Amino acid sequence: MSDSNQSDTRSATRSVKHVLSSVRTREGGGFIVHRPFPTNMLMDFDPFLLLDEMGPVDYGPNEALGAPDHPHRGFETVTYVLEGKMQHKDSHGHAGSIGPGDVQWMTAGAGVVHSEMPEDTFRRTGGRMHGFQIWVNLPQRDKMMKPRYQEVPSAGIPVADSADGKVKVKVIAGESLGRQAAIDTRIPITFLDATIQPGGKLFQPMPAAHNAFAFVVSGKGLFGGDQHAATPHQMVIFDNDGDQIEMRVASDATEPMQLLLLAGVPINEPVVRYGPFVMNTEEEIHQAMRDYQSGRMGEIDF
Ligand code: FE
Repeated sequence: MSDSNQSDTRSATRSVKHVLSSVRTREGGGFIVHRPFPTNMLMDFDPFLLLDEMGPVDYGPNEALGAPDHPHRGFETVTYVLEGKMQHKDSHGHAGSIGPGDVQWMTAGAGVVHSEMPEDTFRRTGGRMHGFQIWVNLPQRDKMMKPRYQEVPSAGIPVADSADGKVKVKVIAGESLGRQAAIDTRIPITFLDATIQPGGKLFQPMPAAHNAFAFVVSGKGLFGGDQHAATPHQMVIFDNDGDQIEMRVASDATEPMQLLLLAGVPINEPVVRYGPFVMNTEEEIHQAMRDYQSGRMGEIDF
């Protein structure tokens, strides 16, 4: 689709509502994350519950940290690695490692106990760790579904290029520039990793009902019809006032911008969260705690 990166004049370009900076904090076994939400400023962004940028951090030999055994219920965890290598194991006997460009989309549903650790060789040698974890909420009808995994290696992620060659998009969920993602989502979700060269622009069609934000990974870009500037670790929240999202990099910029674009249909249900459990009611949270404590979410025994 050679013309799919042109602004459709019949479309309305969304404006930017806020540009939020991340909070730098520690997670799991103590690794550094940049977190735009949840924070006191923004508790969630329906249907998303959390975005953690892991690092970037340079580890020496045997320094890398991870998140040892812990449960999840009621939502999905999405792990996307840019640099470094992680290794996971879970209570359903599932294990694997994810390296640069790989995606693990885990639907925790009724409950999983898992560990997310640096991969053995990576931990021994050290190196740069950089990646993302995103929590996608599940609607009430899916919160207790059987857990499911989708693991897509880098080579399995469709890549789209703009006609002018200035924009490259890895389509992790949803669709962009005529390419469709390999991953199946419970509710319509868009998750793109886009790189825009100086002078390049990406117009992404987006139904007005979908909540959408961008997160700048590197470089600097201009967002929305009103051209708001944003820099690394910032979250750009779009208004729902149009059906097209505009992202561009100034012609005189000295480097490309890499960004994540995340969007989804809001679930519009009550969110009750307690650490690794996200349900609709307090009672469901208490039930989750009882089920975890009594071993009903299983354990990692291998
Ligand atoms: Fe986890």
